[in-house]
Amino acid sequence: MPFTRLGLPDPLLRGVLASGYTNPTEIQSEAIPAALTGQDIIGCAQTGTGKTAAFVLPILNRLCGDRPARKPVIRSLILTPTRELAVQIEQSIANYGRFVSVRALAIYGGVDIKKQLTALRRGVDIVVATPGRLMDHMRRGSIRFDAVEVLVLDEADRMFDMGFIEDVYTIIRAVPEQRQTLLFSATMPPEVQRLAAGVQKDPKTIQIGEQQNPIDTITQHVHAVLRQQKIDLLLHMLHHRSMQSVLVFSRTKHGADKIHRKLQQSGIISVALHSGRSQAQRQRALDGFKHGKYQVLVATDIAARGIDVRGISHVINFDVPLYARDYIHRIGRTGRATMTGDAITFVAPDEHQYLRKIEQFIGQRFEPEEYEGFTCAQFAATLAKSEEQSRAQRLAVRARKAGRRPRLTRRRSRIGAAR
Ligand code: AMP
Repeated sequence: MPFTRLGLPDPLLRGVLASGYTNPTEIQSEAIPAALTGQDIIGCAQTGTGKTAAFVLPILNRLCGDRPARKPVIRSLILTPTRELAVQIEQSIANYGRFVSVRALAIYGGVDIKKQLTALRRGVDIVVATPGRLMDHMRRGSIRFDAVEVLVLDEADRMFDMGFIEDVYTIIRAVPEQRQTLLFSATMPPEVQRLAAGVQKDPKTIQIGEQQNPIDTITQHVHAVLRQQKIDLLLHMLHHRSMQSVLVFSRTKHGADKIHRKLQQSGIISVALHSGRSQAQRQRALDGFKHGKYQVLVATDIAARGIDVRGISHVINFDVPLYARDYIHRIGRTGRATMTGDAITFVAPDEHQYLRKIEQFIGQRFEPEEYEGFTCAQFAATLAKSEEQSRAQRLAVRARKAGRRPRLTRRRSRIGAAR
């Protein structure tokens, strides 16, 4: 279905076309017509599916109609978990709304509050905020929500993960009950379902794709490697393969800084992004990476959600993420929209249990690939042992149920067999 059939007014269609889009994505075709009627929506979609436009366009639609000439009041409030996402959504509003008279403001911490206070005094139509700084404004009495018609909860599952949910509930209580509520979440764990049930009215649920599955445009690779070899493996890849725009994930801030230093020492232009850096540094790092100033961005999971950098060719999990959900978010930074990308995971012997969890979560088995000079026999041995143990446990349970003793036979693991 083309954009023209979604019911959007002309200035927005022009904004969409000027952004270079020809057809709506699946979440956009499903969500926009329903949102335009004022219905509440639960959008369960992976990142990279175009969900920002799915809520921004219906919000902008409200601003296309007759507007009183007085100063703007906040008619839409978008809550999002990270500062980078807030900035990105503010940019999308400017993009899609370039032919609409609209004032949007991103409110987030880590920067001087004065500019935000000035902008609020002048009046804005849309606020995109992270919960913490928004609560600051509420305590100061510098923000009012009486005119809010649309509330968006973006990346709801992440707001739970990041411990924002009490603030989110407090903010929701301050917004008029008579409103439209659009909730987007990559996953729908029970706590997000409870949130939706408590704050929405008769929502339309839109599920795009299987939520556990990485998008099809991403090719996944796994390399078994000793922990102490990881940095050499990374350097080898960066020096010998064609990798233009690479996002490397580290589990810790310290780790991210360390990798970044090693890359710099070996002549690779990189930058680090994590919560230990100031907001200005974080934004500079992200902007520089977006504009091709850095070949590599080394980040913690702060960059795993929603961050939209066009053309990331490779995502490298230097550390295996502890939670399977984070794996999906990390690798979703590549293969965005219609592009393709590679996701590479380095697995050390003590990380294989996390890899197993990811395999269970996405319902797919990884076949670790050899990388010249970096084979890890120890890994294969550990993995074989662990497989043997779980097989023995399974047999024991089955035997107990059948009332007989287990009979154990040795079987080589697929990875062990491959070596
Ligand atoms: P999002 O999931 O909103 O972060 O969007 C992911 C990427 O898809 C962004 O780079 C958008 O600019 C792009 N995008 C969104 N909608 C469309 C569309 N209809 N056609 C092509 N690209 C799109």
